[in-house]
Amino acid sequence: IPHATAGKGLLLEELFIAIKTTKKFHQSRMGLLLLTWISRVKEQTYVFTDKDDDELQGKLGNHVVFTNCSVEHSHPALSCKMAAEFDAFLASGLSWFCHVDDDNYLNPHALLELLSSYSSDQDVYIGKPSLNRPIHASETLPNNQTKSVYFWFATGGAGFCISRKLATKMAPWASGSNFLITSEHIRLPDDCTVGYIIECKLGGRLVASNLFHSHLENLQLMRRDQLTKQVTLSYGIFEKKLNAIKLAGPFSQHDDPSRFRSLHCILYPDTSWCPRPVTQ
Ligand code: UDP
Ligand code: MN
Repeated sequence: IPHATAGKGLLLEELFIAIKTTKKFHQSRMGLLLLTWISRVKEQTYVFTDKDDDELQGKLGNHVVFTNCSVEHSHPALSCKMAAEFDAFLASGLSWFCHVDDDNYLNPHALLELLSSYSSDQDVYIGKPSLNRPIHASETLPNNQTKSVYFWFATGGAGFCISRKLATKMAPWASGSNFLITSEHIRLPDDCTVGYIIECKLGGRLVASNLFHSHLENLQLMRRDQLTKQVTLSYGIFEKKLNAIKLAGPFSQHDDPSRFRSLHCILYPDTSWCPRPVTQ
């Protein structure tokens, strides 16, 4: 079990934060993230997308990666992006790989505090378990037979992190074209494939954290004093209604449906576009 406080003194500069996005969300979702949390960790953040976009490149410079992955929500298209994220992390030499979706709010300091309890020299895979039991997959063997496998995996939509030590061991299944090949063997999405490589190929274990959140859980239930401590949050449509965190302000529901702008002003009140507290 990875533990101890070996990573104390971990710096933001040691994190590689990868965001997966797609052309149709450059304006809307990426605009919101750039305005909010990315502005606080720009040097550590890399955006992986599928279509050239001068405006996005203007804002991110060489921190935007235009993959040649197809513009689809298919397993191969998404695995292609995860492979690009993984390769860029390996090349970066940084200590921690963290993946998020473009509808996640990431709190950099909460993330740093969480990872500080672990060492990037140990095998660490941490995130929110997607299910309350291991997922079952049928692995295709070279002789075309299949084998049942069970493993835990972290929901990609809630974000997850992997230590450099573990990522290095994953390379034979996850680097370059290997990721797509591996995901085809189990015919499951990219986040499942990450769990499969770590648990079934390397004998690792997912460390379950309740600080990562996707919009598949009811986000309205979180109390305000808890909100500021979470590593990731999200927003999205669930059963035809917007599932988002609950905050009274400072922005209205209408101006800030995701509540990310309001949360950002609570975390960083000195932000230029946040309302100034009234002073006498
Ligand atoms: N996404 C993508 N290509 C697509 C559709 C979505 O890369 O064709 C990305 C999207 O930008 C997001 C993630 O995949 O980071 C999940 O997409 P979304 O939130 O729309 O769907 P969900 O699976 O959460 O319902
Ligand atoms: Mn989503």
